[in-house]
Amino acid sequence: MNLEEFLMKNIGKLPPPMVAWAERHLKKIPSIRRKIEKEYDELMDGLETSLKPYKDKFPTFARLPETGRSRAEVLQEMESLRQREEAQWKDGFVSGAVYHGDEEHIEFLNRVYAINSQSNPLHADVWPSTTKFEAEIVSMCASMLGGESQAVCGTVSSGGTESILLAMKTYRDWARDAKGITRPEMIAPVTAHAAFDKASQYFGIKLIKIPVDADSRADINAARRAVSRNTVVIVGSAPSFPHGAVDPIKDLSELARMHKVGFHTDACLGGFVLPWAENLGYNVPPFDFRLPGVTSISVDTHKFGYAAKGTSVILYRDKELRRYQYYTTTEWPGGLYFSPTFAGSRPGALSAACWAALTSIGEQGYMDATKRILETAEYLKNEVRQIPELRLIGDSLFVIAFASDSLDIYKVLEFMSRKKWSLNGLHKPTCMHICVTLRHTQPGVKERFISDLKAAVAHVKSHPEEKGSMAPVYGMASTMPMRGLVSDMLKKYLDLIFKV
Ligand SMILES: *Cc1c(COP(=O)(O)O)cnc(C)c1O
Repeated sequence: MNLEEFLMKNIGKLPPPMVAWAERHLKKIPSIRRKIEKEYDELMDGLETSLKPYKDKFPTFARLPETGRSRAEVLQEMESLRQREEAQWKDGFVSGAVYHGDEEHIEFLNRVYAINSQSNPLHADVWPSTTKFEAEIVSMCASMLGGESQAVCGTVSSGGTESILLAMKTYRDWARDAKGITRPEMIAPVTAHAAFDKASQYFGIKLIKIPVDADSRADINAARRAVSRNTVVIVGSAPSFPHGAVDPIKDLSELARMHKVGFHTDACLGGFVLPWAENLGYNVPPFDFRLPGVTSISVDTHKFGYAAKGTSVILYRDKELRRYQYYTTTEWPGGLYFSPTFAGSRPGALSAACWAALTSIGEQGYMDATKRILETAEYLKNEVRQIPELRLIGDSLFVIAFASDSLDIYKVLEFMSRKKWSLNGLHKPTCMHICVTLRHTQPGVKERFISDLKAAVAHVKSHPEEKGSMAPVYGMASTMPMRGLVSDMLKKYLDLIFKV
């Protein structure tokens, strides 16, 4: 056996650093490279039909049309595209994604957008209305998250990812200035959102991942061991995207306070649910600014805040910390320039729509919505518990994650897709989830989910010979030791997305 054959055969048994080395080595061999490329191409060809369904049905523009098309034609085409796509999310077949989605709410936000479509908060002198909206959005979120009587402040951003990226950059720059840390480290549970890993890659902050316990909550002892003199921030989720688990924020934030480092609560998903769940009497562990160690919180207005897509809020305990987020330059020939977030020009209309959502719904509206969502989730949890082949992961309020010890859960996921459902396949551990939104509180939706899920389980159980088409891809992608190959595959997928 030569080296190549040996590596191909045994790569699964090698320790991770050697896998990465073996992978690089193998990829350099032309015959292996060709084989891998061929496999990718076949996989991508299979995906292309489902990802590009409009190829022959609608006109394609690889370059600008020589003369403009009629507006009526453009609108008509878009209406027709919308009609094809709308039913799935509107009828509640999608996990997360559209959190409100009632016709009148959408119409209202669209009118607000139309009124404000030209506004850009970069020009605060021209649109002081937008500045007003944004200041009040931040203040309303701060007061909702325990910052009422404190100096809590923040900014509006374009989404949860941007809020998290901004916070991590802020801690890096704060720690360099205040503590002279030049090789910054952040500590986050493995279940923390991918945006923290993105921040680590973008900003050169080393990410120390800590494991979670059987209930999918961050291991506080592992966090204690992970703290070093280069730690700039510790992170916890309230709750986490994968399993909806609320990390032990109190202990984690106290650990951060003891070491005089930052603590970020990622409440992107839960920020507009947990405060109302608490008021409704649900058991909600503390996670917000009422904990003295919490120094920042990300909260997504475009999720359970029911704003249009494209807004989120990043909050800080005080103005001192927020200053490290700001960008200013005094030397540019374009004039004195400053911006609070990554973007320059920004869509003021989205902030206006966000403000309109918050103020038109109000506390009572959020409370009612939360009640409906949590009751639906309670029903789904109880029903999933009754299915002997399935096992719930953790004890979550509104993200229902489940695994199976006897069946391939990805086959269950695939069967659900054939029944029109768009749910999330997760790994480490292998499971799937549905994030409950107002869409699922419509009459009949939760019952339909359970009956389809039962049918899926029965089908997978009685057809062990069926391999499925996506299930093996998911399975391979989650267990394959060569993570670089999986990464390459994802990049090919992105290439495909941007193919005309
Ligand atoms: C959705 C989510 C994010 C990221 O938000 P985007 O708006 O998709 O960028 C971050 N953290 C958690 C827990 C989330 O659920």
